[in-house]
Amino acid sequence: MDPIPVDDDLLRGWALPKPSAHDDKEQRGRTMVVGGSAEIPGAVLLAGTAALRAGAGKLSVATVQRMALAMAMALPEARVIGLPETAGGGIDAAGALLLKPLAARTNALLIGPGLQDEAAAPLLVQTLLQHLPPGLPLLLDALALCAAPQVGPREGGLLITPHAGEMANLCGDSKDEVRSDSARVAQDAARRFHAVVVLKGATTHIAAPDGRLWVHDGGNPGLATSGSGDILAGLIAGLVARGAPLEQAAVWGVALHARAGEQLAARVGGLGFLARELAAEIPHLMDTGT
Ligand code: AMP
Ligand code: MG
Repeated sequence: MDPIPVDDDLLRGWALPKPSAHDDKEQRGRTMVVGGSAEIPGAVLLAGTAALRAGAGKLSVATVQRMALAMAMALPEARVIGLPETAGGGIDAAGALLLKPLAARTNALLIGPGLQDEAAAPLLVQTLLQHLPPGLPLLLDALALCAAPQVGPREGGLLITPHAGEMANLCGDSKDEVRSDSARVAQDAARRFHAVVVLKGATTHIAAPDGRLWVHDGGNPGLATSGSGDILAGLIAGLVARGAPLEQAAVWGVALHARAGEQLAARVGGLGFLARELAAEIPHLMDTGT
């Protein structure tokens, strides 16, 4: 089956959940972002900002203890939880228990942006999984992706956002093999991991576990910049918190991210816009249906 192109027709016919005039912030959902480390503290700031720009009502960020105060000041809209650290500068899995009460009131959980300790990351995700409500949608990115094979079918669903290199690590193919056959690779991974898979690149494939497949061509090389994937992951998490099904949030998130890049390219220049600048483009793009 040919992939469905992500274009204006598709997006127009697949409108995101709309709040009613009387909705409060609780009804637009809570996003939680877990990530960050001593050397990559800003990725959760990018992801959290993107979740709020996607319209999520509330945001909590859980990160390494040493960065918690700075994060709270940089992102005053968020509730910030400082977690114990590993010797490798990452989040210690023992911190998972601290997140249990807040996770019970969360509508989308993103784990991964800015994690740095490769040994600790899978343990953190696995420990967190034991404390999550089964209905909570789970999104994995960056170092947390390595835990995807252990998640299994979940009531709330799983969504993963690997680029070709991360997918190569996950499925054992080379990066070139992933790039040259990305539609098939995304579909196989979606079935194997029971996950919506966003296989990122200049062309992005989005695959659902039931076999549905979308393809997005667009954006520009300026999007290949540090922090760009953190913005995308946070944006998708924010849309999930608002109530979008995982595959819809993925398709819309990829389209909004790419068009934000196109707008910045037109205004700022084709290369050299910053990932953090993408977030502020999102609200207007959502209003105009991209
Ligand atoms: P990451 O590598 O995790 O920071 O993610 C990079 C983001 O930029 C992904 O959403 C990619 O799909 C997007 N991207 C990278 N290169 C291009 C390109 N040449 N054209 C369009 N989008 C791109
Ligand atoms: Mg990334």
